[in-house]
Order: sequence, then structure tokens, then C-alpha cells
Amino acid sequence: RVFAPVQVADLRALAVGKLPPHELEALPAELARAGGVLFEPPDPLPEFPGADALIGAVREAGLRGLGGALFPTARKLEAVRAEAADAKYVVVNGDESEPGNFKDRWLMEHNPRLVWAGAALAARAVGAGEIVFYVRGEYAAAHARVEAARAELEASGYFEGLKTQTFRGGGLYICGEESALLESIEGRRAEPRLKPPYPAQAGLFGRPTLVNNVETLAHLAWIAAHGAEAYRARRPKLFSISGDVARPGVYELPLGTPLAGALEAAGGAPEDLQAVLMGGAAGTFLRLPDAAELPLDFEAPRLSGDAVGPGALVAFGGGRDLWAVAEGIAAFFAHESCGKCFSCSLGTPHLHAAVARRERGPQLEELFLALEQGSLCGLGQAAPWAVRSLIRRFEGVRS
Ligand code: NAD
Ligand code: SF4
Repeated sequence: RVFAPVQVADLRALAVGKLPPHELEALPAELARAGGVLFEPPDPLPEFPGADALIGAVREAGLRGLGGALFPTARKLEAVRAEAADAKYVVVNGDESEPGNFKDRWLMEHNPRLVWAGAALAARAVGAGEIVFYVRGEYAAAHARVEAARAELEASGYFEGLKTQTFRGGGLYICGEESALLESIEGRRAEPRLKPPYPAQAGLFGRPTLVNNVETLAHLAWIAAHGAEAYRARRPKLFSISGDVARPGVYELPLGTPLAGALEAAGGAPEDLQAVLMGGAAGTFLRLPDAAELPLDFEAPRLSGDAVGPGALVAFGGGRDLWAVAEGIAAFFAHESCGKCFSCSLGTPHLHAAVARRERGPQLEELFLALEQGSLCGLGQAAPWAVRSLIRRFEGVRS
């Protein structure tokens, strides 16, 4: 399996993506930049303050799902907690596969204890008896370190009363979609399920399941240790910053940081910077310098897909061919479509062919709509966003 868009790979964003070798070694420690509270190992490990106190603090802190969807975390915890069942699970989603993102990889490799602590606290809050930590198939070093941290915490008694397991993922982009991920743990082909019911109601083996991203659970553990007020004062978020910047890496920055400030933190971008791809392949191109002051925060998307999402920023200097990058992204989605639904399995290869022809016009717009509205999961829905943003923002139709 090869993710081919050489133009994007050139920009190093995909040095951590789906390129051979598939057994990915650890990221160099210097990729974690500018300090940051999420880079510090939890010492001592946070104690469980009780379900009401923990969920209350998470709500007050304003924590959202940091895999990209930004769903309020306290609401999800409450939903799983409210279910009565003979078994409940917590599943840690470490299947970070979005091109341009490597912040979960950094957390799993360098601070897995913080993530496990978050998972254990969340399990106690929702009444789950078992935690499954799902690590992306290619993340070999991350898997080893997550498992080592599990064994250490198990031996220390931190998981008392909880079963834990580290699971090596299936090696497909779609495995990161939460319900496909559950299918994959259950031993089936990774295909998304129809929702609702959400995993909170019927998840792993049909039981209520809290599925949270790695970074979300790291934040939850930090909130349990330091309180909602300290969290709100910082509003920390990890950003994977790569491409044409002087010092690519994982940076912890406060939410609300302007785009230009984030690039500055990464050593600065070239003067002829023309674009930043925000969110990854399932994100949008922002035009520079127009978007320089855009605050990187949860609110206010202008085009569909214009969201901080998981926090990837890929910078493109003036010499880069953005259409070639968009073609690579379209090829990626055509390759990764799971084939379950019609509009995506047929639409993504059409989109790739159309972008390769540099097509514009009403037929392409119809294809965008068919993908966005007819696809079962986020993969097909997001497939047109990057190319659509390129047309809107770089060819006259500004928004
Ligand atoms: P979603 O908005 O459908 O759901 C978000 C979460 O909220 C899910 O866990 C869902 O189960 C839960 N939820 C929604 N309504 C609920 C309810 N009423 N009760 C209980 N739970 C409820 O989004 P999604 O499809 O899970 O994720 C899409 C996002 O994934 C995109 O925004 C994209 O940024 C991100 N993404 C990330 C990566 C990565 O590598 N980090 C890769 C691809 C996509
Ligand atoms: Fe599979 Fe694509 Fe349909 Fe998602 S949108 S279920 S990836 S075919």
C-alpha cells in the first residue's frame, strides 16, 4: 500500500504517513517543541475524584473531542454513564492516519502514561470494566511504548478493577473511523456502521462504549490532576506543523493562537507562503496572507471542512503546485475508500480523475455534493473539501 502524492511527501508531512516502511520508528524527541503541559509525564498519576466531580470538571474545562470532530467530551461521558449494561468499554482511538497529523503518535511514543491515565479515569467515570487501546497498525514504536506503559501501570496497581489491552490496528485509514475501528477489534473487515446508534449506546460487542481520541484522554487526565480552571487558563492544544516551515514538529499552543503565530512558533514560513492545509487531507486550503490572523479555535468554519480538526497545519511556499497536492489527496481518498457505500466508492475515483484533468465547473460541483451528502462516513463526505477550497479561494470565488 503506497500513498503516492510525491508533492505532499516532499513536504515531510507524510514522513509520518502511509509511506514505506510501514513499521514506523519513533519520532525524534526534538519534534516535540516549545515545552507544554501535555509533554510532561503525569507525576503523581491523577487519582479518580468520583464520576460527578470528573465529568463536572471536564464540562467546565470545555474539553472537546480532539481527534477532529470536537464533540463535547462531557456529553459523551454522560451518555455512556447513563447506559445500563452487563459490560461497558473504553476504546482509545490511536489510529491516527490523517496525512499531516502526528501529534497522537508523539503522545503515544513519549507520554503514553498520561493517555492511559485518562482512559482509566474515564473508565471509572462511565462504569466501564475494560479498556482497549487501539494503536494504528504502522505505528510500531508507538505500539511498543503504549504496551510498555500499560504493563508498568498494571504492575503498579493503577488499573485495579480494570482489564486493559493494547491492540495493533489493521493498517487502513478507515480503521480510525470509530465504528470501523470497533468492527476491526471484533475481528471483522473495517467498515463503518450506520449511526445512530452511537458507540455510546451500542459499541464494542454491542455494549455501551466510550471511544475517545488519544489527545482527548491526555487532556482529561491533565484536567483531573490540575482542575478545570488551570485548564481554561491555558486552553492547550497540540498542533502537528509541517511542510514549508523552518522547524516542523508537534507544538502545544493555546487555542485561539492566530495562524501566523502558529507558523512563527514552528520557526516561520517563507515570505512567499501561499497556503496552509488545515486539518489534513480531510481539511481545507487556507489562502495566505488573507488567513494569517485566523484564530485557531473551535469556532466559526466558513467553508465545510474549515476546522481546526485534529490540528494539522501543512505550509506551502510559493513554488508548490497546490493542484498537484490536491490530486495526491484525491488519490489518497480513492485508495482508502472502504467500498461500503455507492457515492464514495464510485465518487472518489471520479474525483481523482477530475482533479487529474484539472476539471472545473458544474459537473465537478455536483460530484462534490454527491460525495458530501451521499456518503455514509466522514471519509467520503470530506473527500472534496481540499479541492473545493482550492477552487473557491485560489480561483476568484473567495469566502
Ligand atoms: P461525528 O461528528 O459523527 O462524531 C463525533 C463523536 O461524537 C463520535 O464519537 C460520535 O459517536 C459522538 N456522538 C455524536 N453524536 C452523539 C450522540 N448524540 N450521543 C453520543 N455520542 C455522539 O464525527 P466522526 O465521524 O466520529 O469524526 C469525524 C472527524 O474525524 C472529522 O472531523 C475529522 O477531523 C476527524 N478525522 C481525524 C483523523 C485523524 O487521524 N485524527 C482522520 C480522519 C478524520
Ligand atoms: Fe466506506 Fe467511503 Fe462509504 Fe465511508 S463513505 S463507508 S469509506 S465507502
